[in-house]
Amino acid sequence: MTPNEGIAPPKKLLSLLIRGKICLRNKKMDLRIYPIKTGYICLDKGLMVTPGADTGTKLLVPAICYLIVYGNLKILIDTGMPDTERAGWHFPGSRQKEEERIDRQLASLSTDPDDISSVIFTHLHWDHCSNLHFFKKASLYVQRRELAFALNPHPLNYKAYEAEAVGMTPPFANSKFTVWDGPFKLHGFIDIFPTPGHSIGHQSLSVGAGDDKWIICGDAIYNENTFNPKDHLPYQATGSGFDLWEQYDSIGTILNKAEGKKERLLYPHSEISLRREYYQINQRFLNPL
Ligand SMILES: [Zn+2]
Repeated sequence: MTPNEGIAPPKKLLSLLIRGKICLRNKKMDLRIYPIKTGYICLDKGLMVTPGADTGTKLLVPAICYLIVYGNLKILIDTGMPDTERAGWHFPGSRQKEEERIDRQLASLSTDPDDISSVIFTHLHWDHCSNLHFFKKASLYVQRRELAFALNPHPLNYKAYEAEAVGMTPPFANSKFTVWDGPFKLHGFIDIFPTPGHSIGHQSLSVGAGDDKWIICGDAIYNENTFNPKDHLPYQATGSGFDLWEQYDSIGTILNKAEGKKERLLYPHSEISLRREYYQINQRFLNPL
């Protein structure tokens, strides 16, 4: 016999239990982060992923964006890469299957683009903001300096931003953004912080708190190869960086947010981050809505 056995619940409590209201009120909603693969980019391994080693070796890396779901709230982090033809203009050999386009990937998660309330862009490179026109009802968020640079890029960055100067129309050409400078908190549980270097106004996100936290790195950290450096360094900046020094420091910023736990990092170009169907955060410490 347990201590509570045989004790009748108070009348009011009994009534609520019968009507199901207690269950509804106390039901804990899961906060989940889904990795979404929007295709593969074909990179030169030595130039983009493992500086100083394997130059000339082709490497296919996934282009991943993330969907955050909490109750009816659905927030997208980046919108992924474009179709095979457009992706091949950037890096020959890249490809997107039809079902990998962002709207079709969302459909496989029972989500329509109109269900997305916000899209937060880590930055506005071509493989992170393609097909953003699908998200007509969403607020679009980006750092102010990233948008300003993307709309008027340096010639060295024309391709990365699909500038009109090279005969393209950038995906964000006719979009209205909400811009901010520096750190920003959204819905009480998404902590957005600047991680410049890969691009001038790059930002990353921390979701959750304490030990129950995931960091969406964006291109500040391409993948796990960042932590296989040569020489005396604990990590190395990879990819086509805007400012290598800032990029290196931003890796430190991300690791601090993750309290040194690399297993908390969700990468944009890694098979490792696709191995789970979703990443879960326990709601015991959050009351964001
Ligand atoms: Zn990028």
